[in-house]
Amino acid sequence: MLNIVLFGPPGSGKGTQSELIIDRYGLTHFSTGDMLRAELAAESELGLRAKSIMEKGELVSDEIIIGMIRNRIKSESQAKGFIFDGFPRTVAQAETLDKLLEELGMKIDVMLGLEVERQELIDRLLKRGQQQGRSDDNLATIENRIKVYGEQTTPVMDYYRTQGKYRGVNGLGSIDEIFNRLTGIIEKLNKP
Ligand code: ADP
Repeated sequence: MLNIVLFGPPGSGKGTQSELIIDRYGLTHFSTGDMLRAELAAESELGLRAKSIMEKGELVSDEIIIGMIRNRIKSESQAKGFIFDGFPRTVAQAETLDKLLEELGMKIDVMLGLEVERQELIDRLLKRGQQQGRSDDNLATIENRIKVYGEQTTPVMDYYRTQGKYRGVNGLGSIDEIFNRLTGIIEKLNKP
């Protein structure tokens, strides 16, 4: 089994690289952002609660996120492995994930961090906003998402670093170049 946390600020390319990694290794995708957007589209109670928070670029509560994740991991515990994208985003989420995986006899193998500087993130997200119309891809929300990432999410990197699991890669370059950097690390896992 191979369980990966794909980490990085908004706009660092997690969604794009997740798809490529899933194709190569047959993993199950876990994007809390996608799950929340599905709830929003379905106008569920959870979606309605999350909407204004997401539009401001704040984090949805750990309680909501953990509930969503718990149900899905349990229902897919026969998967070949998971790629977590946009989750865990707080240390509380990371601790809960560790406990949940332990209960199921699983663990995180590696956190792959996509490293991209701030102005490049803003440029990419503004461009995505124009092309895809995601309502949180506007300048004010983008700036807040980056701020929230710095304050609440970067501690998650230290959490995995302490466990010896963090590997950072340069997130600038072509999609293929970045993918090769990531697979280079994955291929070396569990090898002496
Ligand atoms: P991005 O990484 O580009 O900001 P996501 O699709 O991962 O995009 O997340 C979009 C929004 O959904 C976040 O700004 C936040 O409001 C909410 N969200 C997604 N995942 C989480 C999470 N694990 N914890 C709290 N909020 C989340």
